[in-house]
Amino acid sequence: VRSMEFIQFHPTGLYIPGESGRTFLISESVRGEGGLLKNSSGERFMVGKHELAELAPRDIVARGIFRELERSGEQCVYIDMTAEDEEHLKKRYPTIYGECLRRGINISKDRIPVSPVQHYMIGGIAAGLNSMSTVDGLYACGEAASTGVHGANRLASNSMLECLVYGRRAAESINAASAAARPTDFELPRPSAGKLNKVDAPALREKIRAVMSETCWVIRTEKGLRRGLKEISGILKTLSEADMSEKSVMELLNMAQVAHEILAGALARRESVGAHYRED
Ligand SMILES: Cc1cc2nc3c(=O)[nH]c(=O)nc-3n(C[C@H](O)[C@H](O)[C@H](O)COP(=O)(O)OP(=O)(O)OC[C@H]3O[C@@H](n4cnc5c(N)ncnc54)[C@H](O)[C@@H]3O)c2cc1C
Repeated sequence: VRSMEFIQFHPTGLYIPGESGRTFLISESVRGEGGLLKNSSGERFMVGKHELAELAPRDIVARGIFRELERSGEQCVYIDMTAEDEEHLKKRYPTIYGECLRRGINISKDRIPVSPVQHYMIGGIAAGLNSMSTVDGLYACGEAASTGVHGANRLASNSMLECLVYGRRAAESINAASAAARPTDFELPRPSAGKLNKVDAPALREKIRAVMSETCWVIRTEKGLRRGLKEISGILKTLSEADMSEKSVMELLNMAQVAHEILAGALARRESVGAHYRED
């Protein structure tokens, strides 16, 4: 794997206290068409931070919100669409209108609470132009792959490049390869024998989520990353002695390994570049 530290954050996930897991996104087109980012006092805090204010690139808006939350001590900022006509909003943004209304937010009257959320894994399994990874015969494409085409900061809306172009290339390459070139005996690691411990998979999963949110979010510090790495290493140690017969525990191990690589990459890359931003 490579470039695991390059994670794109979407600046405006819908923030609902107590809701966790998959976040509903408030599309950037909302800001593109006049939605204003405001703090709880109604101030447009992106003005003066970037010449495009609310329309600055994703990483800059995400950091602007992060700083504003740090300053205010609050959990979210707001998108204000209340200057728009309700019928227009209903027609132009039916899904956003409906999803918000379902949670008691009428976007023509109420401000939409938002906060940055993890969005796209720019790095991943290192893959070449024919989508082959560094393991002979193993292909990777789509978001899981790191082809290098996004650099350190993916532009919005071009995951199609990874999915369609590299998916096709992988298929063509596999079809062109002779059967003899295909790997037949790649050994997956097996859980160790002996006495294996039962683990509380949902609790550990939540712990990984919390550690990553606290230590490897939009702005990273060496101290935070070291703490995150220590916590995730502890989880990996627990899992090395765990009973892997449950699918949820195997998934947990995958998650912990990915989290470990993200933290290790973020710690090793001292400079801020693209989607990776270090404060020290
Ligand atoms: C809310 C949201 C909005 C987005 N909007 C845009 C946009 O507007 N434009 C854009 O370009 N990109 C957008 N993206 C990014 C884009 O959707 C993703 O990058 C893209 O869908 C990734 O496709 P994929 O096929 O690589 O992976 P996925 O779509 O994640 O597909 C992976 C598949 O593998 C399956 N799977 C996982 N583990 C296993 C296993 N062990 N065995 C078998 N199957 C397994 C999963 O169930 C899933 O079906 C958005 C992403 C999100 C989350």
